[in-house]
Amino acid sequence: MSSEEHKQKVCILGSTGSIGVNTLNVIKVNAEQYDVFALTAKSQVDLLFQQCMEFQPAYAVMLDSTAAKELKSKLSNAGSSAEVLDGIEGLNFVAGHEQVDCVMAAIVGGAGLLPTLRAAQTGKKVLLANKEALVMAGKLFMQFIEQSGAQVIPIDSEHNAIFQCLPINSQAQFTKQQGQGVNKIVLTASGGPFLNNTLAELAQVTPEQACKHPNWSMGPKISVDSATMLNKALELIEASILFDLPAEHIDVLIHPQSVIHSMVYYLDGSVLAQLGNPDMRTPIAHGLAWPDRIESGVEELNLCDIGQLNFQAADEEHFPCLRLGRESALSNDSAPIILNAANEVAVAAFLQREVSFTQIPVIIEKVLNKQERRVVNSIEEILEEDNKARSLAKKFASE
Ligand code: NAD
Ligand code: MG
Repeated sequence: MSSEEHKQKVCILGSTGSIGVNTLNVIKVNAEQYDVFALTAKSQVDLLFQQCMEFQPAYAVMLDSTAAKELKSKLSNAGSSAEVLDGIEGLNFVAGHEQVDCVMAAIVGGAGLLPTLRAAQTGKKVLLANKEALVMAGKLFMQFIEQSGAQVIPIDSEHNAIFQCLPINSQAQFTKQQGQGVNKIVLTASGGPFLNNTLAELAQVTPEQACKHPNWSMGPKISVDSATMLNKALELIEASILFDLPAEHIDVLIHPQSVIHSMVYYLDGSVLAQLGNPDMRTPIAHGLAWPDRIESGVEELNLCDIGQLNFQAADEEHFPCLRLGRESALSNDSAPIILNAANEVAVAAFLQREVSFTQIPVIIEKVLNKQERRVVNSIEEILEEDNKARSLAKKFASE
């Protein structure tokens, strides 16, 4: 077999975003092991064009059909052989393509749901960054993974840390984990840029301030989620689904330096933690290479330079989104779908300066209280719940 045939073929959903660009950076450092098969974006023609010229994928997909036409003509003028597709069908096609070994699910929000599910259904190695897809359709996603023999590796830094610290081969089964002495997991949280602001100050926060995270450089939506701590709420639900852990066994701990990415507590008093510089290239490299290890380009952690690691309890009064997340994680109904959809609408309205920062949790809670919940079993039912919650949230955001 030639070395070409040994290369893993990778499809990157959301290649122009923060996770997508970092994934390409890690692939560039390990070009002999990975082949970029497909790149996708919503509508960023120039960046996707540049990425196609550099990585020569077989397919490039744009959600937006006008942007796809523009990309197609730029690529053919530049002599590229990449085939350009558009729409959700194009995204689903590349996510499930038989030649693809590994799918990086890095579209932001519920928009990534269908292609992420397609990757799970078609037995891929799924590198899961798109936590919203899992929050919306956790049970279905895990069922698809099991039925197709796919492998899911969490890319969210906390979940990747837990995955690394759990006993091997017990990651997705709580009974197995308990059998091996796992007591609980602790998700660390930086607390975001407003950890020490008063509630009155929070009401005045601007989108620019909210998007300036002290440790991580991320896309705008997850940056706002980190500032409200709704991100940690989604992560609590994500952990509960991925590791089959009841939410009672998951704690949140504020750790402002973001060096310890999360921890697993064992029966005998041992606590295993994964540490590293706050740089997403580490979990991305871990996911790409798992169960091996590859270079990520991340600087070595220097604990003397960092000096100290601090911790404090997470205050649910200061961060009401945390309370809403825990309540939703404990429910057995559509609450996580509603929480996620209402948040996406509220964050978009905040970024457009239509609502204040402190209105985000208020809108989410109003939608959670208003919308009747039910147990959902199919993609259609999930999308129905999601749509209803989005309409309600839009109504509350414009009041
Ligand atoms: P981003 O906004 O930087 O990038 C999003 C990507 O998705 C872009 O390529 C964009 O073109 C594409 N996209 C957006 N809307 C789309 C749509 N409707 N249809 C198709 N494609 C669409 O986001 P990000 O920060 O890279 O985050 C991506 C995902 O990873 C999110 O779910 C986020 O929660 C998760 N995540 C991100 C980080 C991080 O450090 N950035 C860390 C952990 C988890
Ligand atoms: Mg995270």
